[in-house]
Amino acid sequence: MTIYNFSAGPAVLPKEVLQQAQAELLDWQGSGMSVMEMSHRGPEYMGIQAQAEADLRELMGVPANYKVLFLQGGAHLQFAMIPLNLLRGKTQADYVDTGLWSKKAIAEAKKFCQVNIAASSAASNFTSVPDVADWCISPDSAYLHYTTNETIGGVEFGWVPPMSDNVSGDVPLVADMSSNILSRPYDVSKFGLIYAGAQKNIGPAGVALTIVREDLLGHAAAGTPTMLDYKIHADADSMYNTPPTYGIYMAGLVFQWLKRNGGVAAMEQKNIAKAKLLYDAIDGSDGFYRCPVALADRSRMNIPFTLKDAALDGAFLKGAEQNGLLQLKGHKLAGGMRASIYNAMPIEGVQALVDYMRQFAAGRG
Ligand SMILES: *Cc1c(COP(=O)(O)O)cnc(C)c1O
Repeated sequence: MTIYNFSAGPAVLPKEVLQQAQAELLDWQGSGMSVMEMSHRGPEYMGIQAQAEADLRELMGVPANYKVLFLQGGAHLQFAMIPLNLLRGKTQADYVDTGLWSKKAIAEAKKFCQVNIAASSAASNFTSVPDVADWCISPDSAYLHYTTNETIGGVEFGWVPPMSDNVSGDVPLVADMSSNILSRPYDVSKFGLIYAGAQKNIGPAGVALTIVREDLLGHAAAGTPTMLDYKIHADADSMYNTPPTYGIYMAGLVFQWLKRNGGVAAMEQKNIAKAKLLYDAIDGSDGFYRCPVALADRSRMNIPFTLKDAALDGAFLKGAEQNGLLQLKGHKLAGGMRASIYNAMPIEGVQALVDYMRQFAAGRG
């Protein structure tokens, strides 16, 4: 039986990538050792990391005046590093509140500055993104932070906030792209800083990726720990301390897999088709399945849905597992089900899920 893993993260990786890592595990390209055993200062590993960075730059079209950093501490540490580095003497930052991940970023930022909620989707109970006409962006804020895809709520921005047209660098746009990076094209030049934990669309857990415009470096608040200063990492090519070498190697294999498969634009087309297949099955189920998210703001990556009778949840999950469809249980705060269908989920996996959903609903309607 083919197994499909719908976990929100750590998440499915491309089978080809895992096979390549397996083939190279004991002897990386004739070096006689595993990537895990290599010095990070040696030419082999330095080549691996440089190639990973070059491939990511090509995939995302990262402009030359941006640094690409491979960090640790997950997206969570970025919640703190962003105010520490980007306040630049200001005392306030703008945050857009679209759900649970925004709230975590906001709570951490409040330790360092005053947070102005520039927009919130509380009125829709976080089932949509706030209409840009209602945003209240403060000119006194050091930056504006938003979450491009809310992994738990299944709400995704299909557009980039227009304040990013402000390219003077005064109010840079900061985005948590943990769960949709590389799933659709983004114009990096519209952002001051982009960050993502690796374990959803990049590679294994343990790496956090940050892409930051160079003029934002070098302004860390007094007292910022060395390891939390972006400039330290930028100046050292992400090798100030020992980087998470194996995770970066795996991320590099994923970037090469993306390039072989047509890059981010081709991935977006596949992601649109996958998401449509699943949403059509939900919406066409005569109410047996329901997704609460507004049509225009539905995530292509994380698709939450409920059964019309929650008493059937256990049977649904058990039957799914028996069919090789794993990790469909919704987040504990959201309940119901959630199917995460990142880049590495093949359309065959979504088709198998949809077939199972139809079969489960039949006779129970
Ligand atoms: C998973 C996730 C995080 C947290 O990532 P960690 O690497 O576990 O810190 C933050 N933001 C979003 C949008 C996420 O999906």
